[in-house]
Amino acid sequence: MTTTLAIANQKGGVAKTTSVASIGAALAELGHSVLLVDLDPQACLTFSLGIDPEDLETSVHHVLTKGIDATEAIIETDDGVDLLPATIELARAEADLLTRTGREHVIKSSLEELDGYDWVLLDCPPSLGVLTVAALTAADGVLIPLQCETLSHRGVGQLLDTVHDVRRFTNRSLDVWGVLPTLYDGRTNHARTVLETISDTYDLEVVEPPIPKTIKFAEAPAAGRSILATSRSSKGAQAYREVAANLVRRSQRPKVKRKKA
Ligand code: ADP
Ligand code: MG
Repeated sequence: MTTTLAIANQKGGVAKTTSVASIGAALAELGHSVLLVDLDPQACLTFSLGIDPEDLETSVHHVLTKGIDATEAIIETDDGVDLLPATIELARAEADLLTRTGREHVIKSSLEELDGYDWVLLDCPPSLGVLTVAALTAADGVLIPLQCETLSHRGVGQLLDTVHDVRRFTNRSLDVWGVLPTLYDGRTNHARTVLETISDTYDLEVVEPPIPKTIKFAEAPAAGRSILATSRSSKGAQAYREVAANLVRRSQRPKVKRKKA
């Protein structure tokens, strides 16, 4: 059984990509087989795993718009995870898809043929456009990384509205797995207060533990590896390992049957 998790928040810089790379590497350490999908035309996930998009002949854009088999574009990385990489051409895919029938289902159907992965993690772009909606349509669950700052909740309602629409029209079984506090500064009460307000206001679970803000994260992408490899025993790496273990437990929870929205 594959668990497909979309990591989404239309706000940029909240550690979506860092979380996908780090949780992916942590799941691989636990012995799970993992596919990461870069859905951001900026290709930050692809870069951060040591792959130069310029060197790629096939990428996620060919899979989504040209009917190329995903297996032809998937590459192995040094972090023990497979990657369906992105290039800047994905920006055009987003425009191409806008006029296509069934566009919401394009990721789901492209990944359907793959088997053998325990986890597929979808790194969403910083928007609520076609690619994010298609990712939510393909996913069992959505995880929302959130930087615990005063204004960080402004987008959460909008994202949850999109989730609601997706449940209604394209994926009734989409589950919100919760918010993942990132760039967390535990020295201030402020961060905790903001987090509590957000989880209360929107009735969201908080996935523990919060990921501490540390400079180590800035160093990892340049090395082409996740923080689990570049800074093995750092607090940040350790936090992501605990998050991954909690996600594994979460994936084993029985599904709640939801009536039509
Ligand atoms: P997003 O994908 O949401 O735009 P990124 O994962 O690219 O966010 O992260 C944005 C920036 O924050 C990157 O430069 C990344 O290295 C940095 N970053 C991510 N997590 C942390 C952290 N826990 N501590 C410090 N810097 C972080
Ligand atoms: Mg990103």
